[in-house]
Amino acid sequence: MKKGKRYIPPSSAGFSFFITGEHILLRVYYDAVCYKKIPEQERDDRGQFLPRQWEKIPLSDGGVEVEFSPESQVQHIVFNGKARIDALWRRYRTGYIVTITMSNNQNIDDEKNGKEFIEEQNEKTLFNVVLHAIVESGQVGIYPSKNRAFLTDEEKEVALRYKDLHIYAVGHGAAADWAFNKQGKMEIKVDFIPTVEVPQLTASTGSGDDTPLIFAFLKMCEGEKHHEILHSLTLFVSNYAGWIEAQSRRAAHEDDEEDKKTAQSIIEKQHLAHNRMRRGVELLQKSRNARIAFATMNRAMLLQWISNDRNRGIEKKESQYRWRPFQLAFILMVLESVVNEESQYRDTLDLIWFPTGGGKTEAYLGVMAFLFIYRRLAYPASYGGTVAIMRYTLRLLTSQQFIRANKVISALELIRRENGELFGREPFSTGLWVGGATSPNTYYQAVKMAEDGQFNKLVISSCPWCDAPFSKKNYIAGNDRFHFTCTNPLCDFGKNPKNLLPCNIVDEALYQNPPTLLIATVDKFARLTWEERAAAFFGLNGNRPPELIVQDELHLISNALGSIVGLYEVAIDTVLITRGMRSKYIASTATIKNAKQQIRTLFGRDVAVFPPSGIRCDDSYFAKSVPLNEKPGRLYVGYLAPLLSRQRCLEPLAAILLSAPIEVFGDMEAHMDRWWTQIVYHGSLKGVGNSRTLYQSGIPYLLERVTVENLKNEIEKFFPGFTDDKKLVTIDDFNRVADVEVKGIVEKYPLRDLNVNVLTSNQSAVENNQVFMALEKGRGESGAVDVALATNMISVGLDVSRLAMMIINGQPLTTAEYIQASSRVGRGETPGIVFVNYYKTQARSLSHYENFRSYHDAFYRFVEPSSLTPFTYQARSRALHAALIIALRYGNIGLLTNDSAGEFDRDNQAVRKVIKEMKRRCAVAVHYGQEEIERVHLHIDELVDGWRERADYCRANRIKLVFNSKDRSFDNLICNFNEENGLWPTLQSMRNVENSALVKLFGKVRREQQ
Ligand SMILES: [Zn+2]
Repeated sequence: MKKGKRYIPPSSAGFSFFITGEHILLRVYYDAVCYKKIPEQERDDRGQFLPRQWEKIPLSDGGVEVEFSPESQVQHIVFNGKARIDALWRRYRTGYIVTITMSNNQNIDDEKNGKEFIEEQNEKTLFNVVLHAIVESGQVGIYPSKNRAFLTDEEKEVALRYKDLHIYAVGHGAAADWAFNKQGKMEIKVDFIPTVEVPQLTASTGSGDDTPLIFAFLKMCEGEKHHEILHSLTLFVSNYAGWIEAQSRRAAHEDDEEDKKTAQSIIEKQHLAHNRMRRGVELLQKSRNARIAFATMNRAMLLQWISNDRNRGIEKKESQYRWRPFQLAFILMVLESVVNEESQYRDTLDLIWFPTGGGKTEAYLGVMAFLFIYRRLAYPASYGGTVAIMRYTLRLLTSQQFIRANKVISALELIRRENGELFGREPFSTGLWVGGATSPNTYYQAVKMAEDGQFNKLVISSCPWCDAPFSKKNYIAGNDRFHFTCTNPLCDFGKNPKNLLPCNIVDEALYQNPPTLLIATVDKFARLTWEERAAAFFGLNGNRPPELIVQDELHLISNALGSIVGLYEVAIDTVLITRGMRSKYIASTATIKNAKQQIRTLFGRDVAVFPPSGIRCDDSYFAKSVPLNEKPGRLYVGYLAPLLSRQRCLEPLAAILLSAPIEVFGDMEAHMDRWWTQIVYHGSLKGVGNSRTLYQSGIPYLLERVTVENLKNEIEKFFPGFTDDKKLVTIDDFNRVADVEVKGIVEKYPLRDLNVNVLTSNQSAVENNQVFMALEKGRGESGAVDVALATNMISVGLDVSRLAMMIINGQPLTTAEYIQASSRVGRGETPGIVFVNYYKTQARSLSHYENFRSYHDAFYRFVEPSSLTPFTYQARSRALHAALIIALRYGNIGLLTNDSAGEFDRDNQAVRKVIKEMKRRCAVAVHYGQEEIERVHLHIDELVDGWRERADYCRANRIKLVFNSKDRSFDNLICNFNEENGLWPTLQSMRNVENSALVKLFGKVRREQQ
């Protein structure tokens, strides 16, 4: 027998499941087809080859079913020897794990190469493979997973919450699906294009009376009506208690003792949240200041929503504006710990865990507005300056949030102006403190931008309150000032002769007038090491330091960035404590795992997740899954092209999807826009580059072929034989048709001319913003986007409601990333559809493909804990000294100014106090016990000694030691990483740590080896 090359994998597909029973019997149903090339290759009139024609050959060989039992034959040869079906039985506990597979049995001639090889391979490939196992007798059990004994407490809770979602099979080389058939028998099958519809979560839940959610009702809390309002809030809170009761009753019925215990620990967290909400209401009962603050906050929220709608021409009744229950519940829960420094929960970081788009921002804007008012009432002499710092990780997102926060602050400011001196003389204001790529850092830059008409670089291009577009006159820029103004006489701000808007974006302006709410990127805080003027944000001139720190999208602070952030956090916390403030921390995230450890490491605090989960994943009272029969979910579709390389496997999928809007919705003009824009997500910049090439050549080529094919089918429906008679092959041939009726059909199938855009960190913020804006444009509008190739930068910032279709090109590294990215589509009325293009050569891709259903049924379950390790040597050597400098400079002990670096005295009482506090804060966050704490403390001591030696040396040699100066006659304590003119190389931004590698390559790497 001639030895042949093995058929190129994947040569088999199948699935495994667990089964028990006395007389197990499986019927396995199978089918497949193959394609044979029609030999003669025809040329058209112009002598060009026609596209290759293939003939479909059914392989069903009569006996399309075989039987298996543990005792029976284990292999069936089928399709005339072309394939075989195997059953592998392995004993497991009281039954078997069975694996059923169909394998391609054919070989390919060893001597064939190149084109000939490919042709033979194509002819020997099995298509449309069907493989079903019908369980005639026997019991399919849950597919075995990780032994519960090895789970952490958190994993046990997660396992309980997903207890009702069972995995019955895993696929091999394909996905597996299962269901009971009409005869009530379990049927398991291979699924090459698996789909799962993931239900949406809703925040609009809660039970009983909606009155306590209404802003217009709650804003009366300061007056005589407050008893009524507090009564209503008490009911709101006790409804939650009622639900917890029901959870307890349900927990008592868990069939497993271990599950009962786990349920109890979940319920304890619910009780805690409930008790804290009650405390919030009690605070409102006891404190008049709290009531005024609560009422005013609700008034501000109402005003800003009305203003928002008025700008869009929407008119609603006041009573229609209301909180979502989870927002109000969160605010009530944190109130007490936000204003009471002695609160038992002051040191608890309250983490809002809610899927994207749930309204987290409004919840903490509410908390802030409450605090801003309360502080003015409670501390009339020291309320000024920055009260809250809100931090983001992505620049783009930051500007969007800035505009949203401006609304609320503007409302507060209008209320302040109406109320004489009640809320103080200092305006409420918002400040954006970010890198120079997003907003100008100096007055000089701002003046230049305003003069050159580069308004998009000035962040705000219309009035945050009335939406009136800005022109040059709205930017007041000078050598020592920068302001936005509104000149719309109908606007509450514009009609005022002093028409300044309460927001700013220029760093120098923020240092001069620290804003009530400072919005910043985390990496900007690296500037504290270099910059003395930022002390303005930490309570200068007798003002209290900031008392609230909000961290948005917490899950993005992980890995290298997270480790560095963790060290700067030590510094910021130390500064606040040294200045007499134990600040309250709030954070939010859409995906979280192991929050407890992460938050301890990052912020040195305990965490309380809100809303606490329920004992099942579909209901936490404040968030519920919406059943699919009530509202469509997001549809995920898996795709794997086993014969195509990683570089090219996207081509057919992308081409088919580009033709889909016309093919599927051709007659429905309104629908066509919904899938018009393809968002293609990539895990790397390299991936974007590769796809860009495909969208220039391979995909348009296939798109034309698909379009021609669709066109042909449509014409043949009405005019059989027409396309062959006229020899219509290319799109140009069709376009030349004179027949009026056929022409009408041709016009319905235009070949799309692709406008391909890119969204990556390689582009400037301005360029990306332009793409984001273009994505809003519908089909047919000039500049509408056909394709946007993006990296993970869309995972947070993108919020365009018309987008409904996405391709995820390659399984992302983490589940959190996968959830974040895919939830960018289907945010509007059209439900989202997400195609995942898996790579056959990537283990991660394959594993996700084979476990498609079980993964998507419960993907929040698979979110990985993020790792951050600020106290490793690598992280400390980059940033611990920076943290020390910030702690000492900002600690209000006379070391702030640039030239004070030389005055450092480690034996000074105040200096020792700061260092002690910093060491304490590190110790709280350190994960690996006493030894690690000692290492960190030792490192701090070494840094202190290093600084002292430098200061002594400079003093002895009459050199001035400064933190950093360009003046060469000075000695620098810090310098940039690429310079050598200072003691400690220091980061300018935390972001640049992401690109750094810990491994250095020596010598040349030969290209072939890569
Ligand atoms: Zn205005």
